Amino acid sequence: MAQQEDVFKKIIAHSKEYGFVFPSSEIYDGLSAVYDYGQNGVELKNNIKRYWWEAMTLLHENIVGIDSAIFMHPTIWKASGHVDAFNDPLIDNRDSKKRYRADVLIEDHIAKIDDKINKEVEKARKRFGESFDEEMFCQTNARVKEHKDHREALHQRFSDAMNDNDLKALRQIIIDEEIVDPISGTKNWTEVRQFNLMFRTEMGSTADGAMTVYLRPETAQGIFVNYLNVQKTGRMRIPFGIAQIGKAFRNEIVARQFIFRMREFEQMEMQFFVRPGDEMKWFGYWKEWRLRWHKALGLGDDKYRYHDHEKLAHYANAATDIEFRMPFGFKEVEGIHSRTNFDLSQHEKFSGKKIQYFDPELNQSYTPYVIETSIGVDRMFLSVLCSSYEEQKLEGGDSRVVLHLPAALAPVKCAVMPLVRKDGLPEKAREIVDDLKFDFSTHYDEKDSIGKRYRRQDAVGTPYCITVDHQTLEDNTVTLRHRDSMEQERVAIADLHKLIHDRVSLNSLLRKLK
Ligand code: ATP
Repeated sequence: MAQQEDVFKKIIAHSKEYGFVFPSSEIYDGLSAVYDYGQNGVELKNNIKRYWWEAMTLLHENIVGIDSAIFMHPTIWKASGHVDAFNDPLIDNRDSKKRYRADVLIEDHIAKIDDKINKEVEKARKRFGESFDEEMFCQTNARVKEHKDHREALHQRFSDAMNDNDLKALRQIIIDEEIVDPISGTKNWTEVRQFNLMFRTEMGSTADGAMTVYLRPETAQGIFVNYLNVQKTGRMRIPFGIAQIGKAFRNEIVARQFIFRMREFEQMEMQFFVRPGDEMKWFGYWKEWRLRWHKALGLGDDKYRYHDHEKLAHYANAATDIEFRMPFGFKEVEGIHSRTNFDLSQHEKFSGKKIQYFDPELNQSYTPYVIETSIGVDRMFLSVLCSSYEEQKLEGGDSRVVLHLPAALAPVKCAVMPLVRKDGLPEKAREIVDDLKFDFSTHYDEKDSIGKRYRRQDAVGTPYCITVDHQTLEDNTVTLRHRDSMEQERVAIADLHKLIHDRVSLNSLLRKLK
């Protein structure tokens, strides 16, 4: 684990050094849990968004997109339940003066017990070798059994406290389990309090009577309140979906793990409206399809898992997360939720407008049920970055850092380099750039040795380097260097476009989803 943490630190440093992610307001010492995307980061992020948007809206003829405003009528957040229930339980340590989420402290504590169990199992596996029977060992080894029983009981207590919103019970778990503050090392805890995660601000001048408005904590409500507009103007027939990409804001109590948990972030959400009774069929469809979207990127099938929710939100009748193996463990990247007709019914109630669908096949009106797919752009970005990062030892004692980014997502698709800065090679290289730049993000680079230039491109994940040498002037061929294998092939300039296009286009990625 410690090794993984080191790698994570290196990834954070690398992403700053190469213009992917910068801390916000850095010259003023930063702003906690807010980040800016740099020149390479913004390209990678835009490519991720394009992959999602096109997969949703081009490949599904019954899904259309919208772009709703961040500010919305405050009653929307009353109707959605966010004003009353979008809370996290927080607790302070009186010595360190640090604030924590009580549920996260307990979850981390449970994860430590899991680690202890795993360590015992791994020790035994080494000792017994081939004949090791894990199940039998876990049932009979006294120490493991003790840990497991403890874990079970604790987990049950924790679930009950969360389900009942029992803040006293949460605190009691922290006391009984002797959980200490990782900074001060003490158990000097305050009471547990509910903390609403929405940012508030005022709209209009006070003289006119200012109104409290919220920065939206999710993009989904912008879709629900536009359901009627889109359904009517687009003449949409159920089942159909509305997709949206946009900023969301949450005043997270503890911001951790770089861009994994931010206070300002971006979501890609799609609400799919279905006939009541059909929701489980569509929930299954979207659960499978969304995982396929992730896996098509080729980051490694073993890096994903589903996590079905045991505790469901009051409005949901099924929910699962797609988790990705980050350097700090398996973590949620996307949620797929069957939200029943909760949101539309609530908006019908609070707005007084009829929000229904007349189904011509059934000859009846109803409030549609909804399946939601909700993914964080920044978490997706982080999963792509972490799984692409590699420090490689090369023959001859050399080394390189390479980002094996999926070619369709890479910020720069190819870099064109004259071998030397004379003899007409730069001019020839510029000609190639001027042709390719209409279709691919193409860089021109003539500074430093060719080896250094290759390393620079490896570090930002450029799939192809094209080198122009003296032979190019004679026969119009160049070397095409592949980022991952570092192999070089001699190809005709006339073939470059097709060769690159076949491997880097979003189109070829989307075709995998057929
Ligand atoms: P968590 O339990 O990690 O706080 P959540 O279950 O509250 O997440 P949802 O409300 O389901 O998250 O939001 C959908 C998606 O939005 C998440 O899967 C995640 O990718 C993204 N997301 C949510 N909160 C944040 C955040 N603070 N920073 C970055 N991305 C986020």
